Amino acid sequence: MAKSSVLGYPRIGENREWKKALEAFWSGKLEESELHKQLQEIRLNHLRKQQEKGIDLIAVNDFSYYDQVLDTAAMFGIIPKRFNYTGGAVPLSVYYGVARGTKDAAASEMTKWFNTNYHYIVPELYGAEPALTENKPLAAYREAKEKLGIDGKPVILGPFTFLKLSKGYGKSEIDTWLSILVNLYVKVLKELEEEGVQWVQIDEPALVTKLSRDDVTRLQTVYGKLAEAVPSLNILLQTYFESVENYKEIINLPVQGIGLDFVHGLQGNLASIREFGFPKDKVLGAGVIDGRGIWKASLSDKLELLKELQGYAASDKLLIQSSCSLLHVPVTVKGETKLQPELTNALAFADEKLDELILLTRALNEGDASITAELEQCEKALQALEQSEARNRKAVQEAVAVIQREDASRQSNFESRQLAQQQKWQLPLFPTTTIGSFPQSAEVRKARQSWRKGEWGSEQYAIFIKEQIDSWIQHQEEIGLDVLVHGEFERTDMVEFFGEKLDGFAFTQNGWVQSYGSRCVKPPVIYGDVEFTEAMTVEETVYAQSKTARPVKGMLTGPITIMNWSFVRDDLAREQITYQLAYALRQEVEALEKAGIGMIQVDEPAVREGLPLKENEQADYLAWAVKAFKVTTCTVQDTTQIHTHMCYCEFHDMIDSIEAMDADVISIETSRSHGELIQSFEQNTYKLGIGLGVYDIHSPRVPDIEEMTGMIDRALQVLDPKLFWINPDCGLKTRGKEETIASLRNMVAATKIARDKH
Ligand code: GLN
Ligand code: ZN
Repeated sequence: MAKSSVLGYPRIGENREWKKALEAFWSGKLEESELHKQLQEIRLNHLRKQQEKGIDLIAVNDFSYYDQVLDTAAMFGIIPKRFNYTGGAVPLSVYYGVARGTKDAAASEMTKWFNTNYHYIVPELYGAEPALTENKPLAAYREAKEKLGIDGKPVILGPFTFLKLSKGYGKSEIDTWLSILVNLYVKVLKELEEEGVQWVQIDEPALVTKLSRDDVTRLQTVYGKLAEAVPSLNILLQTYFESVENYKEIINLPVQGIGLDFVHGLQGNLASIREFGFPKDKVLGAGVIDGRGIWKASLSDKLELLKELQGYAASDKLLIQSSCSLLHVPVTVKGETKLQPELTNALAFADEKLDELILLTRALNEGDASITAELEQCEKALQALEQSEARNRKAVQEAVAVIQREDASRQSNFESRQLAQQQKWQLPLFPTTTIGSFPQSAEVRKARQSWRKGEWGSEQYAIFIKEQIDSWIQHQEEIGLDVLVHGEFERTDMVEFFGEKLDGFAFTQNGWVQSYGSRCVKPPVIYGDVEFTEAMTVEETVYAQSKTARPVKGMLTGPITIMNWSFVRDDLAREQITYQLAYALRQEVEALEKAGIGMIQVDEPAVREGLPLKENEQADYLAWAVKAFKVTTCTVQDTTQIHTHMCYCEFHDMIDSIEAMDADVISIETSRSHGELIQSFEQNTYKLGIGLGVYDIHSPRVPDIEEMTGMIDRALQVLDPKLFWINPDCGLKTRGKEETIASLRNMVAATKIARDKH
C-alpha cells in the first residue's frame, strides 16, 4: 500500500494565532508559561487536523518558536558568544536574542531559505562549543504520541545542509565540523531509535545545489556513520525545491528512503529515475503535490505520474508527498469568500493539499474509480479557470508576443542620454535624492484605515494625501535635496498597491505565509493575464511636481519584483508573466512621461530573489529579467532619466546584469554591506549613474556628517565623480519625521563637503 506523507505544516495558525502569541510574549503581555501553553495548543491542533484527514505519516518537530534552522543550532548549543550563553538548555531569552537582537548584542544574520521568501537565522559556528542541549525531535514525537496517539515522523534539518547554511568556519574546517555534527546527530537519532520511532525525515535541500566531488564523499561518510549508528531507525533523506544533482550517488546512500521533488524538480528527477531507475529496497518519497504553489493539482495528471513512479518503486515502498514543507503556503482556502468562484475553486492551500494527498493515495491503492467524482470536479474547476476571461486576454497576449521579440533598447546609448539629460536638468555634481518613501506615520496609516473602512470618502482621503505631499515637498526643499519624490503616502506596500490597480491580480483575505520570525506576508495572486487599465501614480506625482521647481521622480515597482513577491499562476512561465507586467508598467512609464514627469524610478529590490538554484539556469533568468526591465523603460525620450533601486541582498556577482538593465541611475543599498559592494565595483568599472547608499535606514540613529563623508570618499576612489549620486540606503517609510529630516540634512552637508573637494 502506498502511504500519504506530509513534510511539514504551516506553523502560523489559521488566524495567525502563532504570530500573535509570539508578539504578545515579546511585548511582555504574555507570560512564558502562557506562551508555551498557547503554542502547544496551536501545534496539537495542526497535528489533529492531519490525523483527522487521515494522513499516514505526519511530521512532528516541524513546529518552531521562530525558525527551524535556529532550532537546530540551539539544539546543539551553537549560540554566538556575545549572548553570554553558558551551556545547557537554551533559555527563551537567549533564543529570541539570537533571532532579534538584545540591547547589548546584535541579532544573527537572517537570509533567504533557498529560492523561497522564507528567511532563516544563519548559525554562527565561530567559537561555538557544540553539545546536545535537548532532543527537540524526541520531545515532539512523545507529545504527539501521548496527547493524540500519533506515531509521528520527526523532521530534522540534516547535518550537510546545516553546515552549508552556517557561517564562521573556513574550508579547511569542513570535515572537522561535519564529524562534530555527526556525533551530535547520532545522539539525537539513537534516542529516537530507543523510543521506537519508525521513520525520521532528514531534510537535505542542499543536495539540489551543485555539489563538489568532496561533498559527495562527505555525504557518503556522514550517512554511512548515521546509518551504522541507528540500524533499526528508518531514515528518509528528504530533498526539495529542485531536482538532485548527483542522482546516482544520492539514491545509493545507505538510508531507507529518498524524498524527491517531482514538481519543481520534475524534469530533472524524472529524467534521472527513467535513466537510472530506483533501488528496489528503498522507499521513494514522491513529492507530487506542489508545496509552494497555491493551485489545485490536476489529480489525473498526478495519478499518471504516480503510476509511472510505481514502476520504479513498488506500492508498498511509495510515499505520496508534497514537494516540500507546506510552510510556504497559506493555511486554508476555507475563509476566502470574496474571490471569484472560478478562482476560489482552483485554489489549494495547505489543508486542501492534505486532501489531495489523501485522494491520490486512495486512488493508487483502491483504483481510480474510488475517486471518480473528485477527479471530475477537479478537472472542471481547473478548466473553468483556464477558460475564464481573465486568462484569455488576447490583446495582452499578442502585444507581449511582439514585445518579447523587440530588442528593447533606449533610442540612444548612455553617453548621449547623459549629455541630453545634463543639458535639460542642470543638476549639480553629486546630485542628492531619496529612494521614494517618507515616514508612514501613525496619522498616515490611520487615514488609510478610515478610508478603507468607508469612514472617509475618497475625496477626503485624496486631500489628506495631498497635504502630506505638500508638507514633504517643503521639507525636501528646505533640506536642499536636488531630486525630490512625492513620498508614497498612498501606498500600503510596493506590490499590493500596483496589483490592486492592474487587472489579472486577486487579493486573498487570509492568505498569509511566514516570511521571517513572526512576520507574515500576504502575497497578491497573479491569476490572469496582467493588464494596464488606468494610470496608477500619475495624479500624485504630477501634483507633487506642481508644487516645486525641482524635478520630482516618478516611482514604480518593477516587473521582476512584482512577480517575485506574488503567488503566480502555474500555467504560464514566470518569464511570460514578467513580460506581461513589463508591458503594463511600460504604459505607466509612458503616462508619467506624457504628464511631464522627466525622471522615473522603477524599483527592483527583488531581482535576486528569483535567481534559480541551478547554476546553469541562472544566466537565462538574468537575461529575461534584464530584458523585462528594459521593456518597461525603453520607450521614453533621451532626456527622460530612468532610475532604478535595489537593496536587501548581495549584488556583487550580478553587476554585469545590473549594468545591462541600462538605467540612467541606480541607487543601491551599500552602507550595511560594510564596503563589500564598493570592493566589487572596484573590479567592475560601472559606467552608468550610480548612487551608493551613504547611510543605513534600518535604525532611528541619525548618522553624523563625518560618517557619511567617509562613505562618499571611499566610493569616489572607485567611481567616476560625474556619475555619482548621493542618497540613503533605502526608502524612509519606517522612520520618524524628526530623525529623517536630521539625517537628510547631514547627508546634504556631507555632499557639500564632497563638492568642495572636487
Ligand atoms: N521606493 C520604495 C521605497 O522607498 C523602495 C522600497 C524598497 O526598495 N524595498 O519605499
Ligand atoms: Zn530598498
